[in-house]
Amino acid sequence: MKIIIRNEKDYKKFIRKIFLYKSIIYKYVHFEVENDIDNEYIDVIINGLNIKKRCERIEYIYDEVCKILNKRMDLNICQFKNNKCIVQRENNTNNCNGCCLKCVHQLNGRCNTENLTCKLFYCPTIKKKYKITKMKDIIPLKLFSLRQRLIFKTDFFASREQHLNDLYHYSLIVAMYNIFKRN
Ligand code: SF4
Ligand code: SF4
Repeated sequence: MKIIIRNEKDYKKFIRKIFLYKSIIYKYVHFEVENDIDNEYIDVIINGLNIKKRCERIEYIYDEVCKILNKRMDLNICQFKNNKCIVQRENNTNNCNGCCLKCVHQLNGRCNTENLTCKLFYCPTIKKKYKITKMKDIIPLKLFSLRQRLIFKTDFFASREQHLNDLYHYSLIVAMYNIFKRN
């Protein structure tokens, strides 16, 4: 099936239909796109729709969104200097490494895993200063279920593998129990 995107209007129409395209009706449909607009999400969504195995699709979208967010994180919005973020410097605390503080996945001031929930988190200070990316702005996440998006909002301090495991679970209760235990 060919999706044609010539302008923003077509793009919005396509986004509205993602809900339908990811349903069982399109399970055996292969998607192609003819795209004239500059948008980093379109190929990710199309590729994601063409991955029909649930776990493989989750992993693909997860990794691709991480790559997109990593490029934005390179902008150093939190203004780290000597391992202290702007909030830690302004408050003159002894703490360092920003929000990662004492997380087990933090090594020498850097995260040694890929946690999508953490990548989307910013404190009120930063939110006041900048227009930050919100979960609803990350269109490929629409390929996930409501339950999975709920997990995204809460799964801090987890490794990539733990996070993916939580997303694979069909039971929200089990996933939430894992998140609670870790926190
Ligand atoms: S979000 Fe706020 S508290 Fe967290 S690292 Fe950035 S500036 Fe520091
Ligand atoms: S998992 Fe989250 S809190 Fe832990 S080091 Fe990575 S980004 Fe920081």
